[in-house]
Amino acid sequence: MKKTIMTTVLIMILFIFAAPVAFASEATHIKVGLKYANAAKLSYTVMADGGFYVAKSNGTEFEEIEQIFDYDKAVVNYSDTEIKLQTPDGADIFADLDGYVLLPARYEDDGVINIDGSVYRGGLCFTQNGDNTINAINILDVEQYVYGVLNGEMNHAHPKEALKAQAVTARSFALTNAGRHSSNGFDVCVGTHCQVYKGYSDEYKETTEAIDETAGLLMYSEGKVVCGYYSKNSGGHTQSSSDVWGGNVPYLKGVPDKYSPKYPWTTSFSFVELENMLDNARKPVGELKQVMIKARNSAGAVSEVKFEGTEGTATLVKESVRTFFGGGLVKSTMFTFGGAEIENAETRTNGGNDNALDGTFVYNGNNNQQISKNIYVVGSNNNSVQLKSTSAYASNGTLKVKISEGEAQQLPEPTNPGNSEVVTGGSLVINGLGFGHGVGMPQDSAIEMAKQGFTFDDILKYYYTGIEIR
Ligand SMILES: [Zn+2]
Repeated sequence: MKKTIMTTVLIMILFIFAAPVAFASEATHIKVGLKYANAAKLSYTVMADGGFYVAKSNGTEFEEIEQIFDYDKAVVNYSDTEIKLQTPDGADIFADLDGYVLLPARYEDDGVINIDGSVYRGGLCFTQNGDNTINAINILDVEQYVYGVLNGEMNHAHPKEALKAQAVTARSFALTNAGRHSSNGFDVCVGTHCQVYKGYSDEYKETTEAIDETAGLLMYSEGKVVCGYYSKNSGGHTQSSSDVWGGNVPYLKGVPDKYSPKYPWTTSFSFVELENMLDNARKPVGELKQVMIKARNSAGAVSEVKFEGTEGTATLVKESVRTFFGGGLVKSTMFTFGGAEIENAETRTNGGNDNALDGTFVYNGNNNQQISKNIYVVGSNNNSVQLKSTSAYASNGTLKVKISEGEAQQLPEPTNPGNSEVVTGGSLVINGLGFGHGVGMPQDSAIEMAKQGFTFDDILKYYYTGIEIR
């Protein structure tokens, strides 16, 4: 079976309650883990035009301690229990960088620092990681951090107001997640666990303008800065956080999403695959007999799926409905089961003499999508014939099936047509809309609203219920 794994970057963020933040309008330093834990290195090469400062951070400003203007290239090495700044020849420049910040000499004038070929604003902290390796951490102002984030979350070619809405969510995320990686000595990582951060090399004129035009703006709910959860595409209705993660959060309510561009997807799993997945998830049911959609939430999304087998049952609820399947294959919980073509194919007759079995079956999949597997025609003698992949395809909501003479003798009369909430054998076809958890702002809808002339605060206030922006 061919399965496509989306490579679109999608922030999948854990649910954290909003925390008050007192420093909305003034400069605030944030620490970003570049290399740490298993990725920590024995040494780093650093470069900056005009040299360096060794400095300290008080959380909002740098205090210069020592000028190092004679070298614009140096090496950070662990030696004699100290993190040393050395010349490329190994001569000591500064004895122990632990607790200090290495700044480019021109840091106040848009100067940047290069570490092993990657370029960042602000400065670098180095801490011991054990085993003689060194953690490398970028420390910089939150606004400069967002410069290096925004394009990775929403491409700079999108409309300005959508970029501005994303800038406010990215800034709000950063300030509400300070200390998320405190056990490793920094605030946020550079991956999708936090927000994708690529630094200075991923800054664009358009994204920087969007950040500058919303400088310092954050979202508040009930007087507190709140985290701007977002996902790619809502599938037509956003989700309440209580339906996805549990907990009642006043600004994360599901809303009808008339701006959502269509984002259809289809995937399928054989019952054997599902049995293995249930075993791996420690939810074994024996031989799988039936899969059912048991409940939908107020947004119309699937909130409970039940598997029934020969040795028990297993149930998925809320977010696990999506995450159980892994790999981004089930991209949202806005889906239907498209198993109907199997049941209908079992229940249609062609009179037993030609290839007239077409145009009569309900099918929820995409037009002209070839049905590649697991379609059986069952005769009244209970013998089944599996159709070849080239013999079935979807068209205008029906499944067209062409079968050759002899394959479809003595088929029984139709029963149970079109029930797509229960699948009883063969394979589970899932047809959905949207991508992501659906909580908060859908990025695709933000882009669509911006195209229609809405402003960034219109967009944010539509998807985050009752917020203030200031
Ligand atoms: Zn992280």
